[in-house]
Amino acid sequence: MSEMNGFGPGITHPNGLMTGKRGLVMGLANDKSIAWGICQALRAQGAEFAVSYQGGPLEKRVKPLMAQLKLSDSHLLTCDATDPDSVQATIKATAEMFGGSFDFIVHAIGFSDKDELKGKYLNTSKENFLFTMDVSCWSFTEVAKAAEPYMNRGGSMITLTYLGSVMVIPNYNVMGVAKAALEASVRYLAHDFGPAGVRVNGLSAGAIRTLAASGIGDFKNMLKWGELTSPMRQNVSINDVGNAALYLLSDWAAGVTGQIHYVDAGANTQGMFPLDEIEPIADLAADMASRKKAT
Ligand code: NAD
Repeated sequence: MSEMNGFGPGITHPNGLMTGKRGLVMGLANDKSIAWGICQALRAQGAEFAVSYQGGPLEKRVKPLMAQLKLSDSHLLTCDATDPDSVQATIKATAEMFGGSFDFIVHAIGFSDKDELKGKYLNTSKENFLFTMDVSCWSFTEVAKAAEPYMNRGGSMITLTYLGSVMVIPNYNVMGVAKAALEASVRYLAHDFGPAGVRVNGLSAGAIRTLAASGIGDFKNMLKWGELTSPMRQNVSINDVGNAALYLLSDWAAGVTGQIHYVDAGANTQGMFPLDEIEPIADLAADMASRKKAT
């Protein structure tokens, strides 16, 4: 699907959809991140924003991206989503950066122990269950709580989710349970923020090859499945997700809140698959079976 949003990173549209809008994008790791697709789409339409990343070795990947966006180093913050003080400090720094308030937040953060993103959900440990919920679900509510005093009327928050919340996707396991709770949080937060004129939505992206996705067992089969069986017979790109995020964060979506919006080439709508197209799937299954035999 589309690789570029038409304007290119860092180029501000003179009358962009997001001109005058300020905010925070959380969860940039590198140029494969969904957050990167969102940053490009927002910047191209005139938004100004802080970017937060987890810290540590990711710095060398994230700093050059800030330069590409033509955002200064002062717009770059570190945030550990499991540390309430860190979340609070990141939100406060964003508000201070923009004169005391801001308009949008993107939460593109998720993590689970990769040893439990394969095999049976039944084998999930309590420790990883709680940690996955903390990073991938609770952190969105934590961020929303911290941001509440600073959000402008007309503001918008989004988080990233996946189909494994409502359907069984082999290996997605505890992450699917966390995403289900995250999607429920979207609806409750939308209810709470509604009277203040702030919208809260979830974007359910199709499978995309990213750092986080590389931790999911047999991830390449998820990609292959999307390519073979989605209505559009293809996967989506970070730019496809970025452009949908742009819509949800802009005033074009002024009447949209509490929704889970799918950007997955229609994969979530496909029940049965036409049997006369099954050959490539059979090939894929045969290939997997022979690889399993060989190990
Ligand atoms: P990514 O690895 O680029 O981004 C995940 C981010 O989460 C990273 O920047 C990582 O540093 C951050 N993170 C993890 N633990 C953290 C912590 N304790 N504190 C702060 N940050 C932390 O991968 P991505 O695929 O772009 O993931 C972004 C979001 O999109 C995640 O919520 C993921 O579940 C979701 N998503 C991904 C896909 C996919 O197929 N890639 C599909 C649907 C939804």
